[in-house]
Amino acid sequence: MECENLTALSATAIEHARHPRNLGPLERFNGHARITGPCGDTMEFWLLVRDRTVQSVSYTTDGCGSSHASGSMATCLVENRAFGVAYRLCQQDILTALGGLPSAIEHCALLAANTLHAACEDYLRSVKSESQGSSAKKQACGESNETQSPPALLPGGQPDEKSLQEERLRQRLARIRHKIVVLAGKGGVGKSTVAVNLAVALRRAGKRVGLLDVDIHGPSVPTMLGLEAETVSAEGGEMVPVDLGGLKVMSVGFMLSNRDAAVIWRGPMKMGVIRQFLQDVAWGELDFLIIDSPPGTGDEPLSVCQLIGNLDGAVIVTTPQKVAAVDVRKSITFCRRLGVPVLGVIENMSGFVCPRCGVMTQILRAGAGRRMADDLAVPFLGSIPIDSTIADSCDDGQPFLQGHEDSPTAKLMHDMLIRVEEAVVGTAAAEHRLPGERSTVDFIAP
Ligand code: ADP
Repeated sequence: MECENLTALSATAIEHARHPRNLGPLERFNGHARITGPCGDTMEFWLLVRDRTVQSVSYTTDGCGSSHASGSMATCLVENRAFGVAYRLCQQDILTALGGLPSAIEHCALLAANTLHAACEDYLRSVKSESQGSSAKKQACGESNETQSPPALLPGGQPDEKSLQEERLRQRLARIRHKIVVLAGKGGVGKSTVAVNLAVALRRAGKRVGLLDVDIHGPSVPTMLGLEAETVSAEGGEMVPVDLGGLKVMSVGFMLSNRDAAVIWRGPMKMGVIRQFLQDVAWGELDFLIIDSPPGTGDEPLSVCQLIGNLDGAVIVTTPQKVAAVDVRKSITFCRRLGVPVLGVIENMSGFVCPRCGVMTQILRAGAGRRMADDLAVPFLGSIPIDSTIADSCDDGQPFLQGHEDSPTAKLMHDMLIRVEEAVVGTAAAEHRLPGERSTVDFIAP
């Protein structure tokens, strides 16, 4: 267990490597799997599932510290949890819980997730054959043929459509390292502007980035990126995102044949579209997926947060007035109810930069967003002034941070948005920090 350099690991990973939990076979189990990964490590998992809850779980591995850390953490994440949690646990969940692993050994977490998943499949198979066996026995004895069907399997042993969709979504999201949703209490406050420029800032910082616009009633990403002529194309049953200099973009707007058309979709249809965008778009491997959510705290942002499940956090955009800040409070409450970390609040259109002399004037009473963030103890990321070049860039389909990088507003916006990345990395590490261990980003100064 000590043969690799443990100092390269996070404190949480070191702790699990040195003191692995749930190590060694279970005496009684109903799910088991053993897998040898491409690295040559062999991992084994045992499960005891009762009443659709993982009552006991254990693992072994012949690998080194990171392999033990991954196996041990995987067991901790699913023990005494619903069976579905174990079935859906993915590599990223383990990595996040460990506070990350060096990229060369991230495959240990994948091996742990795959082996646990195979043990879950084994359990499902055993339930299936048990129910068939008892059914045959009961029939032979002339008893009723009623048996409890195994979870998520059709009579032929095939997973049902819902389970297949869940699995597709799980696999798709497992390849996206960080997922950030951009929220606003109401429309017109600059949410899409922030989402687009956040994606651009991260792309320019060399990250692999996707931008998903699910603002169903006002998809403005195609206009802001000059992609109005694009439509959805499909390949091999997957929707292909538009590639804009390495930035992968998908928008509800690409689905509308007529840009002037009003979207009149009922609730379930909207949910279906959001799910499809998360599940069926060929995003590939991404470092960040930025999601431009519909405004408010209704069904659509709720779907986004629930479908993704393990969002890294939300950026909340508001304007400086007190009335807008009331919506920020609602958005923060919404995030807290759903367990979505608030990465920070951005106060947009705060002050006005004169295009002639460059002097900034406070034309609205500013500061309500900051005060609300302070009151509710969430980070305040900073303020963006009203700057006509931002509006012009949006109208011209040219990301502001790409065409005006030297302007003072662009520099300010760029630095602010890059802090979102730092907050995400900080949040992922902070969630599993040991007592006494300090985060690198405790509070993001404006
Ligand atoms: P939302 O997504 O919240 O509905 P948008 O991002 O679509 O809002 O922005 C609404 C309009 O305001 C757009 O035309 C955009 O160009 C403009 N806008 C956003 N932020 C600024 C700003 N700081 N200065 C000037 N115009 C802005």
